[in-house]
Parts: sequence; C-alpha cells; structure tokens
Amino acid sequence: MERNESGKYVIGVDLGGTTVSCAVVDKEGHMLSREELPSLAEKGIEVTTDQISFCISKAIDSANCTREDIIACGMGAPGLHEPKEGVVLWSPNFNGWDGANVYQPLNKKTGYKFYMGNDANVATYGEYFFGVGKNSKVMVMFTLGTGIGSGLIVNGKPYNGVFGASPELGHTIIMADGPRCGCGRRGCVESLCSRDAICNRCASKIGSGRKSLIYEMCEGNLQNITPKMISTAAENNDLVSIETLEEIGHLLGITCANAINTFNPDLLVLGGGVSRSDILFEFIKKTTFEVANDTLKQYCEIKRSELGNDAGILGGAALAWNDNYA
Ligand SMILES: [Zn+2]
Repeated sequence: MERNESGKYVIGVDLGGTTVSCAVVDKEGHMLSREELPSLAEKGIEVTTDQISFCISKAIDSANCTREDIIACGMGAPGLHEPKEGVVLWSPNFNGWDGANVYQPLNKKTGYKFYMGNDANVATYGEYFFGVGKNSKVMVMFTLGTGIGSGLIVNGKPYNGVFGASPELGHTIIMADGPRCGCGRRGCVESLCSRDAICNRCASKIGSGRKSLIYEMCEGNLQNITPKMISTAAENNDLVSIETLEEIGHLLGITCANAINTFNPDLLVLGGGVSRSDILFEFIKKTTFEVANDTLKQYCEIKRSELGNDAGILGGAALAWNDNYA
C-alpha cells in the first residue's frame, strides 16, 4: 500500500478496548476534528476494523475535508505487534486478533496506508513529536493509571525491542517478595502503584482505624476511594493521604531512578490520570533525584505530559507524518 503523497493531512487513531478515537491532524499536530466510536473488541477483527473505518470517515467529514486530503493513518493499539507487516502477536481483550494481519482489512476498508504500534509506545512518540518531548534525544515516558505503561524514544525513534514491544517498565520488579501483579510475577511497580493499589493502600490505613477526610469523601465506603480524592484530601493537609502519596511517590521515584540509570535519558515524562496530583509529582521527583546516579541525573529533567488524553491519537498521527512505526 502506497502513501497518498498529494494529501495535506494524516489520520491519528487511538484504539482502546472500549473506544476507538480518530482525528484529522495537520503537520503541526492540530486536530481538525475528533470522533469516537465503540471499538466492539469482543466482536472480532472484521467488526472492529469496520468501526475504525467508520470512525475515520466521520473524522474526515467533520473536518470538512475529502478522502484525497489524507496521506496515511497511524494507530496505537494495545498488545504486541509486528508493526511493518501489521501482524498482531498478542492483543489482550481483542477477540481473534492474535496472529491476525490488521493492515489487510484496514487497507481494503479505508484505502489508506497504515502505521501501527503499541499504545504506550505510540503515546510516547506523540508526546515526543508534538508535546513536551520536542528536542529531547532520549526520552522515557510512564503512563500512570489503571496500569503503568511506558515508552522509550531513542534519537527520535520509538524503541521497539525485537518484536514491537514497548519497554515494559511498569513490570520492573522493585520488591522481589511484593504483591502479585496482573502479569503473574511479584513486586512489579504496577502491582504497587497502579490506580487500585494506591486506593487500596489508602483504604487499609483508614480501615486500621486512622482518621482521614477521605472517610467522608467516600461516604464511608472505602471501595469508592479514587486517586482524585486522595490528591484533594492531601492538598487539605490530610495526613493519611499525604502519607499514601509519599509512599507511592517513593516507589515510583525508585522506578524513575532505575530508568535514568538504565537509559541515561535527558527527559522523563509522567502522564496518565494519576500523574495529575502535584503532591505526588513532587514526591516522585524527590526520591528520583535522591536515588538516581549522581552524574546521570544531572542530565535528566522530569516533566508532566502536555498532551494528556490526546497523546495516543497524536502519536498515531506522528507515525503517519514520519513514515514510521512504533
Ligand atoms: Zn507485572
């Protein structure tokens, strides 16, 4: 499949387990339109690629441009892929995708050339190309949320490993006898610092009888605690919440320091919903700079994501603009 070099824009696609989002994107990373549809991941590859194709058509219509204006499409998707051929090696939650070629149905349904990568790697590339990472040489990004995603850019290119994997820094083991992680191992940073792990840590402090503003905020139901509540309570000097964020910040700081020692980046970016807490961000920075290698840390800045929820879609667009895979 050839690129349509006479076009003016590209399409960025962010494919998630529940939603597919598409945007028409110009060379500067401005979105001319943004559309969403359910990804219907449980219904198989034909249905989901139909949804992607419909969503792209909607995005072209609402941007008031024509099919001929589009050069190519770039997409971030969960799992592991062989991005040049478009073969999915492993895709959790997408029924029947393992081993399938995704470019063939997408080329046929849309008429466009596709670029693809792991969602975390693609979001990192978006942040590098259109966001806070411009001018960085080696950039590491962590996405803090339900899980802990990560990506790495080396000299302007996404680092893909041997078969298209993003570096799985969320599964770096920081406590060998720690809690069981979703990946089956013990003590991964994700098992200690995922959204649920943060809320559970706070809940167990309150469950042991300590007083906290959180108790009223969650109306006495500790299952309903959210990272936002912990962050808000911490800003109001709630000791249990501050302590929770300090402990999580310490664990994440160790992880960030490991990344600095391993990759010698000039920029480390923190994104995802959980990263929005200013207090947590300061605790993470504190431990990172305490424990990272004295020389390497001098060359590394820690910043928060600029693109937020748009990093994935703009990362897909950046792949398409640059004739690149992630
Ligand atoms: Zn793990």
